[in-house]
Amino acid sequence: MRGVVLHRPGDIRVEDRPDPTIKQPTDAVIRLAATCVCGSDLWPYRGIEEVAGPAPMGHEYVGIVEEVGSDVWNVKPGQFVIGSFFASDNSCEICRAGYQSRCVHAELVGAIGTQAEYARIPLADGTLVPTPELPSDDLVPSLLAASDVLGTGWFAAVAADVRPGKTVAVVGDGAVGLLGVLAAKQLGAERIFAFSRHEPRQSLAREFGATDIITTRGDEGVAEVKELTNGLGAHSVIEAVGTQESMMQAIRATRPGGHVGYVGVSHGVELPGEELFFSAVHLHGGPAPVRRFLPELIELIRNRQIDPGKVFDLTLPLEQAAEGYRAMDERRAIKTLLRP
Ligand SMILES: [Zn+2]
Repeated sequence: MRGVVLHRPGDIRVEDRPDPTIKQPTDAVIRLAATCVCGSDLWPYRGIEEVAGPAPMGHEYVGIVEEVGSDVWNVKPGQFVIGSFFASDNSCEICRAGYQSRCVHAELVGAIGTQAEYARIPLADGTLVPTPELPSDDLVPSLLAASDVLGTGWFAAVAADVRPGKTVAVVGDGAVGLLGVLAAKQLGAERIFAFSRHEPRQSLAREFGATDIITTRGDEGVAEVKELTNGLGAHSVIEAVGTQESMMQAIRATRPGGHVGYVGVSHGVELPGEELFFSAVHLHGGPAPVRRFLPELIELIRNRQIDPGKVFDLTLPLEQAAEGYRAMDERRAIKTLLRP
């Protein structure tokens, strides 16, 4: 089969890779209907995260089940399925508490690489959620978004305790931040501030429910949030970047007693203890337990109540993956969908 491999920073190739097979009785093999490039794929692509030799890429996926192992009962060949970037048994104590991304048997799907024609998905019964019927083609991008960026943005909003009537600020205008806006709107937020300096992202943020766009960042951006909230700060702040600046911006934009939901993969972030102590904010986040939200998100998409697939502003054949990475790296595209 064909699959995407990162050889060294900036060097993305589509190559012949071995066809995946069932290795464990709990595995399934799926044929990808669509896959995509994640903002987090840009960390190794840019060399900020180490690349240890040729690495298969991709952890977002929707597709048709081809084959299941002898110990898979809930998922059947021919079904259309969605899973997230951590395979999970969905039955251990951590999973049952809603933290499937930290399942005691969690396996990183990114190590397998779903930017390919086929992929082996471990712990298929716990990981994969089938749709009740084969979805129409126009729903595929939105279902693919549920696999990571929507589920992650949704978790960020839940972690930030977004509720009806609350004021929310969203740090980060990538796909996760934009879908954090959508989630905040769905969860009933009254005002939603989106930090963004890029016109196409600003208009998508507005479409998803942002009431105000803030074009400044850092402490300047914080001051603007304070100005818009009687000097108090937002009730809920979503952090969807993962840098020192974005994390401090999120904490400082939150009012005392408020909540920060952080989902940007942390790179070199160090929190000053004394400032954190006196901020009196709640911090919650980490790798999003997307599996917790999948059934609900699939229903919202099937009923066409939300259209998160709008974050894909570039669609390419899998063979042109390198251009898909370049476009995102240069911020010409918000998110690239790849069709195998
Ligand atoms: Zn588990």
